[in-house]
Amino acid sequence: MDNPYLIHGPALISFSGGRTSAYMLKQIIDAHGGKLPDDVHVCFANTGKEREETLAFVNECAVRWGVKVHWLEFRSRKTSLPIEERFAEVTFETASRAGEPFETLIRCKSYTPNAVMRWCTAELKVRVMKWFMQARGYRNWTNVIGLRHDEAHRVAKSRKPNKEVWTNSLPMDDAKATQRDVFRFWFGKLSIGDVVNLIRKIGMEAVAHLLPQGFDLGLFGFEGNCDGCMLKARAKLWEIERTKPGTLQWWSDMEVVGNGQFVTEYSYAELIRDVQKQPDLFSGGLFDTDPDMDAECGTWCAEAA
Ligand code: SF4
Repeated sequence: MDNPYLIHGPALISFSGGRTSAYMLKQIIDAHGGKLPDDVHVCFANTGKEREETLAFVNECAVRWGVKVHWLEFRSRKTSLPIEERFAEVTFETASRAGEPFETLIRCKSYTPNAVMRWCTAELKVRVMKWFMQARGYRNWTNVIGLRHDEAHRVAKSRKPNKEVWTNSLPMDDAKATQRDVFRFWFGKLSIGDVVNLIRKIGMEAVAHLLPQGFDLGLFGFEGNCDGCMLKARAKLWEIERTKPGTLQWWSDMEVVGNGQFVTEYSYAELIRDVQKQPDLFSGGLFDTDPDMDAECGTWCAEAA
């Protein structure tokens, strides 16, 4: 049987900026002897609301592993524009960090996404990557996504036939790679809590020699993807605002811009007020091993776009 990490082009590798898809990317690079075929493209879709740690991690993976990562951002929904003008290719240095692509989309649509109408994933990530491939002249391709063997529900969803121009490929599932493999790859015998807390205490450089890859993302699972994503549970959003005050303000502002709430039960202004009223209600370390937000949100609704 073929090595599941040997990818036949044309293909798009969706790199979320999490440890799981980074693990997959490294296995694919190694399977190809250190250099990807020219028609296998690695893309990271930046919403503008990723944590700085994620952007640094994506950049570090590209530099250390010698792979070209295309940094893509949404620009417009206007179908009258040529495809290549509906998104932009940026770099680590020029990538949006203040939510501009996401805000542009909310202003275009004139309402906020929410857990039920979660068009942000489809528009900011899935469709932008599709435009990238179409702009290069591909009509059909393989979409390589980093879902692990232990994510049975998401795997089953992604394996269903879709009406899209791509076919999904899940090499980690084929290779039976689980979270244990991913954690061992990044942390060796340490735990995610040990590593992230150490990085925060003494800095990445001082921790590097303890890590099998010599670097890490430096975030807990629930801190990944968009910083205040509405899919994160309320307690996690409280924790995010508590540990990084001001994070939820953009989200609260967008509820005003889009004239609606991201979550039916509460507004982001309420979340901020909750934390301001009771700043020590939550303690760090509650979510050390939570893998929820490690996967690209686009892999949860890969059939959308
Ligand atoms: S992480 Fe959340 S807010 Fe960001 S694009 Fe995905 S679903 Fe939307």
